[in-house]
Amino acid sequence: MRTVIHGGDVIAFHRGGHRLLRGGSVAYEGERVVFVGRGDAGPADHRIDATGKLVMPGLVNLHCHATTEASGRLFADAGRRDFFHTGFLNYQTAPPGIAPMNARENLDVGNRFALVELLRNGCTTIVELGAVSDATVAFAGAIGIRAYLTPGYRSAAYRLGPAGELGYEWDDAAGVRGLERARAFIGEHHGAHGGRIRGMLYPLQVDTCRPELFRATRKVADELGVGVSTHVGQNLVEFHEMLRRHGKTPVELLADTGLLGPGTILGHCLMTTAHRLAALPGGRDLEILARSGVTVAHCPLVFARRGNALESFHRYRAAGVNVGLGTDTYPRDLISEMRWASLVCKVIERDFTVATAAEVFDAATLAGARALGRDDIGRLAPGARADIAIVDMQSLRIGPYRDPIKALVNCGTGDDVETVIVDGRTVVDGRRVLGVDEVALRREAQAEAERLWATVPEWHWERLGTEQVSPQSYPPLDTDLR
Ligand SMILES: [Zn+2]
Repeated sequence: MRTVIHGGDVIAFHRGGHRLLRGGSVAYEGERVVFVGRGDAGPADHRIDATGKLVMPGLVNLHCHATTEASGRLFADAGRRDFFHTGFLNYQTAPPGIAPMNARENLDVGNRFALVELLRNGCTTIVELGAVSDATVAFAGAIGIRAYLTPGYRSAAYRLGPAGELGYEWDDAAGVRGLERARAFIGEHHGAHGGRIRGMLYPLQVDTCRPELFRATRKVADELGVGVSTHVGQNLVEFHEMLRRHGKTPVELLADTGLLGPGTILGHCLMTTAHRLAALPGGRDLEILARSGVTVAHCPLVFARRGNALESFHRYRAAGVNVGLGTDTYPRDLISEMRWASLVCKVIERDFTVATAAEVFDAATLAGARALGRDDIGRLAPGARADIAIVDMQSLRIGPYRDPIKALVNCGTGDDVETVIVDGRTVVDGRRVLGVDEVALRREAQAEAERLWATVPEWHWERLGTEQVSPQSYPPLDTDLR
């Protein structure tokens, strides 16, 4: 089957970069793009009129967690001060013997909700961290998303002591077993569903894994020919913990273990020697990152919510680091995330000329593809995978525009995505993910989140209630007003 998308503004790929093609056509046959241009696109079994729309490569989301994010949502505007700019430690910690909030999530609901949200918002390729099972593979395969699934493992869990102090509960054997489970998972599923499902190794956090586990991960990744993802430089607690434990910054420690390299994606990586709060003289973290060829998965929104930022998207890129984008927690809207990446960087640098629309769009497409070692996604050119998002540019919010990329980055959201195609298969049509009852799924996610929010007193270290740890924005109105 041969399809021609015609009449739209096309982001085409030519000679190493994106180009704007006004009123052009994209033709694809089977899973591959066969033509991009203004001339004769050839015959078509099916035609899509994209007049007034933007035809762009599907977005590459390098860092997301497929849950309802009920836990992250709970701690908006709230949480412990001594976790500094971190949200996740509030719900990934509990006293010994008690499951923290995130461990109580029904992953069946969370997985389906998140994967549908990602696809709906134009992410055709995702790196999903941790929340994966055989059912995730089956569901991702059914809805047609391209997914790098990464079963997580670690040598220690975060634990709270009697006074609520943060510590680590070590179980080295569990880390080794987790790595072997990940190897088996990849052996079973890598290449499934027409090659759209692939695996990666995912030692969870730099401070919860022994250096030996990172070394073993490097070895297995090389044997399997797969990439690696981890969390690093997430907060000051971790930065200081690594200095105390190893006498090295988190980045220096990972470099020592051999984990860094072109196939490795570092989630967040804010707290490096480039960050003013690190206040560590003589730091070389950016140089180490650039030299290793590693990718930083930059998720600006989740950190902006905690009052922190990468310093900065511009400086990392200028140092030669490959910086891609991810959505981490919620919402899973990489179009809005591009705007956050651009604006947060401009504020940090006090410079409106940095983190341009083109640079953040490159991060969401080409840098993501590079991180995954691929030259067939994140671009529209003959031979590339037919992974395409068609965006309606006629909303009042987007308004009049001269430059569709500046308009998209400054005014667009995932809601503007009308059609999504992966491997030549239409998976979102008329703003709906095909084969999914989104209303029922949204209802399921709400019920699951409410169940989780009610569990706060069961795991909170001070046995506080839900309203105490996260007061509603406004007090309830409990009287009739006449
Ligand atoms: Zn993460």
